[in-house]
Amino acid sequence: MSAKFFIVATPIGNLKDITFRAVDVLKNVDYIACEDTRVTKILVDKYAISAKLIDCYKFNEKQRSGKIITLLQDGYSVAFVSDAGTPLISDPGSELVKVLKENEIEITSIPGACAVTTFLTHIPRDTEEYAFIGFIPRVKKQQIEILNKYKYTNCVFYESPNRLMETLENIQASFSAEKKVAVGRELTKVFEEVKIDTVSQMIEYYKNNTLKGEIVVMVFASEYNDVEESEIVEKISILKEEGYSNKDISIIISKLYGINKNKIYKLTME
Ligand code: SAM
Repeated sequence: MSAKFFIVATPIGNLKDITFRAVDVLKNVDYIACEDTRVTKILVDKYAISAKLIDCYKFNEKQRSGKIITLLQDGYSVAFVSDAGTPLISDPGSELVKVLKENEIEITSIPGACAVTTFLTHIPRDTEEYAFIGFIPRVKKQQIEILNKYKYTNCVFYESPNRLMETLENIQASFSAEKKVAVGRELTKVFEEVKIDTVSQMIEYYKNNTLKGEIVVMVFASEYNDVEESEIVEKISILKEEGYSNKDISIIISKLYGINKNKIYKLTME
């Protein structure tokens, strides 16, 4: 394989969740830069991949970027993988990709497993829109701020099992006991579990059931209430007086309030 650089998605639990193309690339590159060589060793052993492993994690990524560029310039091909799923999605790789792009090095990305997209295929939603915020902040005040920011959008985040209960309590306190949430746990693994319920029921459930493993959460979008609707109707009439089209008004208000564009458009027609 001539000198090339690849970003490669790897499984998020079930080792079979890797594409033929990903295995083919990993079998043919000279080096695999990876977050943790011990983790990637399990994957390369399973698929009889013989590339040399070099560690490239959050704290040495910048320095490793230089080494990877030298390898590519010397004619070696390199793939980058994280411990699980898609690199750069709450995972290292951003600094590396930035440096490679600055050096005009071509990047080929091999798609595959990702916890957020796997989770979303379990969750029926009224609208396509969602906001993925990576790991939710640990501090209560910051959690509430970000949940409010995305109040009118389905808000998806990663969370640790040790903090899930506290986060659910915070969601209940900021919204209501009836707030709808979904929790995906151990996706693609033996004890995979996906639950959709009110936040209070979810708290009850995890008081009585296993709460360990890897977790993705979605807080369903809020419907805006009557007070907010009157506020929005007022804003619509101001913008109409200024001569904005219904389409532009929908875009502006949806951006300002984070409410679905089509809902605003309906209001502009009333
Ligand atoms: N890059 C990965 C991806 O593509 O999803 C995410 C890496 S991030 C460091 C790890 C977090 O993703 C876990 O703490 C958990 O919140 C979520 N996650 C990863 N694998 C998961 C799984 N099998 N089931 C549920 N959540 C998972």
